Amino acid sequence: MQAPFAEQELTGWANYPHYRGAVFRPESLRELAAIGPSGSRQSYISRGLGRGYGDAALSTDGVISHVRLNRLLAWDPSEHIVACEAGVTLDDILTCFLPQGFFLPVTPGTRHVTVGGALAADVHGKNHHMEGSFARFVDSVQLLTGMGRVMNCSATVHSDVFWATLGGLGLTGPILSARLRLRPVESAYLAIEYRKTANLDDTLAALSDDQQYRYSVAWIDCLARGGALGRAILMRGEHARASDLPPRLRDRPFDAPVPRRFTVPRGWPGFLLGPTTVRAFNAWYYRRHAEGAALVDYDSFFYPLDRIRRWNHLYGPRGFVQFQVALPADCSGRAIRELLDAVLRARRAPFLAVLKLLGAANPGLLSFPRSGHTLALDLARGGPDLDDLLNRLVQITQAHGGRVYLAKDAYLKPAEFQAMYPRAEEFRTLRQRLDPEQRYSSCLSRRLRLDAVASSAREAA
Ligand SMILES: Cc1cc2nc3c(=O)[nH]c(=O)nc-3n(C[C@H](O)[C@H](O)[C@H](O)COP(=O)(O)OP(=O)(O)OC[C@H]3O[C@@H](n4cnc5c(N)ncnc54)[C@H](O)[C@@H]3O)c2cc1C
Repeated sequence: MQAPFAEQELTGWANYPHYRGAVFRPESLRELAAIGPSGSRQSYISRGLGRGYGDAALSTDGVISHVRLNRLLAWDPSEHIVACEAGVTLDDILTCFLPQGFFLPVTPGTRHVTVGGALAADVHGKNHHMEGSFARFVDSVQLLTGMGRVMNCSATVHSDVFWATLGGLGLTGPILSARLRLRPVESAYLAIEYRKTANLDDTLAALSDDQQYRYSVAWIDCLARGGALGRAILMRGEHARASDLPPRLRDRPFDAPVPRRFTVPRGWPGFLLGPTTVRAFNAWYYRRHAEGAALVDYDSFFYPLDRIRRWNHLYGPRGFVQFQVALPADCSGRAIRELLDAVLRARRAPFLAVLKLLGAANPGLLSFPRSGHTLALDLARGGPDLDDLLNRLVQITQAHGGRVYLAKDAYLKPAEFQAMYPRAEEFRTLRQRLDPEQRYSSCLSRRLRLDAVASSAREAA
């Protein structure tokens, strides 16, 4: 019998592109395993909460939503390991474990992603320079391969499959569950230091001094020009100890204030986020932060954007692009200057520009982070020159040996991808072994020719 599904138009977080596919919402692993053999569709891609920006969780064929496969399975208090289904969200983990004194070891800038999505993108946080990406804290994952086999893998068991799956964007098959190591913390607060920098050189120098902080991030005022290009507010810090808290919080260290949340209405007109508004916001944000030390609750530090529900609709119906790149340390200064210059020359006003330090790469075949810096820029879609600008940004990135983050991409071309991810061919070969009929495939894998074995590399060359 065919597994039930609903035809639905889906998009990523950037609201571009849109594709119509058959969406399956299994409630048990048995239902999930039955989808492929039921012959409903030829290929499928897993989907979490759709917080990936581009087309990685989209398909014109089958889409498997994991949101109902969201059970916490076990907790090992001695090892601090939680076992859960892949549809459990980081929000679920925080809600359940922070009051017990445990935090996520690595977190992206939103708590609304699933564990499956975090694994498949091998997400990084503000601590990559010190602690690496999500993969480092994964004890094991359980995968359903294209041949219908359930496989347990880890950094030591079937490690080739593990390192293809972490960062593999769902293309090795649906991740069913995982065992994750959490971090013990003494409070729900962070001891943060703010520092303002005058220009890019100052920002990069201050970031290198930040190597000793567990968390570090620079918000760049990307509308500042000339001698002030690259000026930023640096936010760096560490989990606060119970003894760092003011007396009123010491007997309830995990009680963080519940933030006020706002919702962007559907149909919000994109022009309200034009250059003038963005310029005013950037100038205000830069002035607003005073330098010095502060005690900040974890939600304000890690997830400021989560306060505005559907903030992605601020860009209007045409959506936006988040251009995020990783740049090698030895030339990231030049590359960042060229990227910011190109954006300013194109008279674009990025609403958000964030710079972070990255530590060493892990063995993940498609994992994004590599030693150096990562810069993320949000650009509104629309205007005749956007494609030219994106091509220019990709050229600059490539010329400096950098790479684009696939979980945020919808534009890269196969040859550019191949040059940025030299282990792509190994990934194709491994996928061919796990999934010879290419049962798992997405709009991204078709766009980047990650589906066709070997031939794509030749075509792209
Ligand atoms: C506000 C915001 C801030 C962000 N900050 C960061 C950041 O700091 N660092 C960072 O690294 N990323 C960041 N991201 C990106 C986000 O963390 C990733 O794109 C993540 O993969 C999204 O998870 P999701 O559950 O929404 O997955 P989706 O967007 O639905 O899917 C993303 C990918 O995961 C795959 N996938 C999902 N579930 C499974 C599964 N069970 N099995 C196999 N594959 C699966 C999909 O096929 C797809 O390839 C941010 C996103 C937003 C919206």
